[in-house]
Amino acid sequence: MTTAVLSTFYAPKGTYDLIPPDSEAFLAVREAMAAPLERAGYGYVETPGFEHVELFFRGVGESTDIVTKEMYTLTTKGGDELALRPEGTASVLRAALQANLHRGALPVKLWYSGSYYRYERPQAGRYRHFSQVGAEALGAEDPALDAELIILAADAYRSLGLRNFRLLLNSLGDKECRPVYRAALQDFLRALDLDEDTRRRVEINPLRVLDDKRDAVQKQLTGAPMMRDHLCEGCKEYHEQVRALLTAAGVEFEDDPKLVRGLDYYTRTTFEFVHDGLGSQSAVGGGGRYDGLSEMIGGPALPSVGWALGVDRTVLALRAENIELDTASRAAVFAVPLGDEARRALFGLVTELRRSGVAADFAYGGKGLKNAMKSANRSGARYAMVAGERDLAEGVVQLKDLESGEQTPLPLDAVVAEVRERLGRA
Ligand code: AMP
Repeated sequence: MTTAVLSTFYAPKGTYDLIPPDSEAFLAVREAMAAPLERAGYGYVETPGFEHVELFFRGVGESTDIVTKEMYTLTTKGGDELALRPEGTASVLRAALQANLHRGALPVKLWYSGSYYRYERPQAGRYRHFSQVGAEALGAEDPALDAELIILAADAYRSLGLRNFRLLLNSLGDKECRPVYRAALQDFLRALDLDEDTRRRVEINPLRVLDDKRDAVQKQLTGAPMMRDHLCEGCKEYHEQVRALLTAAGVEFEDDPKLVRGLDYYTRTTFEFVHDGLGSQSAVGGGGRYDGLSEMIGGPALPSVGWALGVDRTVLALRAENIELDTASRAAVFAVPLGDEARRALFGLVTELRRSGVAADFAYGGKGLKNAMKSANRSGARYAMVAGERDLAEGVVQLKDLESGEQTPLPLDAVVAEVRERLGRA
């Protein structure tokens, strides 16, 4: 086989395959993120993996790296300009507006889970295809809603056993106070010694410069005007209420006046969860309020708040904290048939066990006793269900407890009930 042929068997750069047993942690993380949302009345929404490219131009912002550099765009045979979704919020808002959900009771609370695509420089924790669980609460301006979402995310991380994460919190102001601050920040930044790219950013999106990770830039930012000193009374009061609600709920946070995040549409509450065991790609999730986004994509005024949590990075965070989730999807019973008649009988019992809710597996491939028992042990099953011709002649199967080694003959028609009882399922 030539290398050219072989290379088609490698996942594309910046992507990876989820395979057992690692994929178990991935599923468990998704479930842990979704469970608090479902308890809080968020309904599941699923949108297409691609959208009209215009949605992201308008909804994510033409000055963001995500849209200008990282979007996977394509022209269909019919001439439509589409993009693989780089994030979830714009799509979910589009779907809600399209279905007129905003004309019903507000807020509309939705959650989603899926794949996102960004043409980024791959590194540990940064991929071109990654997975997020997200939540959006559309159509209400209420600090309790911002607090609710933050609490639900913190609870999700905690329920996984994560400890070394921190919540960074900031307010980006609103359409009253942000423009005044923006101008003051631009005045400050224009006087600095910055490269051409960064100068351009000063003109298009000056807040983003605060987020520049380079030392040379950070050093010059001492004394830069901060949004928190420019918040209008309304924004200040709103932010204080969010902070108070978080404190009352026992969710710790750090005020981070430089937190701006990568997307254009945020207003007021902005937050990020970072994990201290992940190196440079430390953000495990983030979000905020986006009161102007609906109008940006052509909808009515619909003040909203939401977040997206990174599933891949949360799995890495679990690994960094040495957390083993109890994700046992293992068989409880492993059937070891000796001979054709036993194969038929045990296959029937395995099916019956599964239908009664007991995880069961079978020694496929006509293995001999020794190899089949090896498979049973390797499967992690608690019991091996063994039968040969003689057992069947007596109408029994042998149930062997793989922990104690104890073996009990059980009548064929009593096996399922006995196994269920022993597993505490009866
Ligand atoms: P964002 O939509 O950029 O706010 O991202 C929300 C979360 O998704 C981040 O905090 C990360 O955990 C995750 N995320 C974003 N981009 C990537 C990526 N390229 N690879 C892996 N995870 C990502």
